[in-house]
Amino acid sequence: MTSTEIKLIDTHTHLYLDRFDDDREKMMVRCFESGIDTMLLPNINLESVPRVLDMMMKWPNACYGMMGLHPCYVKEDWEKELESIMARLDSPPEGFDFVAVGEIGLDLYWDKKFKTEQSQAFLTQVGMAKERGLPIVIHVRDAWNELFTLMDQVNDDNLRGVFHCFTGGLKEATRALDYGGFLLGIGGVSTYKNGGLDKVLPSIPLESLVLETDSPYLSPAPHRGKRNESSYLIHIAKKVAEIKGVSLEEVASVTNEIAVRMFGLKVK
Ligand SMILES: [Zn+2]
Repeated sequence: MTSTEIKLIDTHTHLYLDRFDDDREKMMVRCFESGIDTMLLPNINLESVPRVLDMMMKWPNACYGMMGLHPCYVKEDWEKELESIMARLDSPPEGFDFVAVGEIGLDLYWDKKFKTEQSQAFLTQVGMAKERGLPIVIHVRDAWNELFTLMDQVNDDNLRGVFHCFTGGLKEATRALDYGGFLLGIGGVSTYKNGGLDKVLPSIPLESLVLETDSPYLSPAPHRGKRNESSYLIHIAKKVAEIKGVSLEEVASVTNEIAVRMFGLKVK
């Protein structure tokens, strides 16, 4: 099997953003040619909702949407915005389903002003995911302790999901996986020299990992610094294979199976 025959699932990619408006069709062709045949699109705010829907309908066999309010967009009026987003979650276009509530979480890196509101929005969205039997996709930046405190309150057998763009240490990885229903999303940081994941991943079973690009951010080496796109996922898969000391084929088959199960995707 050559690497071009490897199929991979990008579990977190914002291909609907305006960064791709000029060349989205060509970019999607590059993704398909690179074996990236499934892309999960996390919503960020009310404005991005129609963009996520457009891609789901244009590429129904490849693009799956999520609905949620990203912590960086939680402001004074978060309840109103979330209400509109969740109305959409409950009324997907005919024949479609959303695969997760995401992305949600805490981000105290950019702005601490709405810390309380971020926590409230997170807990509200966790409740909505539980009611609907959907997984959650968690974004956490500079807020591990705060997030774990919230997770300790709400975790139960009905809650499952992904800690997306995982960049914590072994302590955080262990605590996240101890919740029982959670996976770590591994992205471009795994390819960075001082990314630190080479020290964490050897202790984590492959069965606890899914792959993601988080496009257009965090391009993996050798594309670091440029706009990221889902076709670059192959570099992340190769790095994970190298760190884990397993074949690329094994990384692909295990992480694909885990992603299909977590998000209830169609098996291709
Ligand atoms: Zn994201």
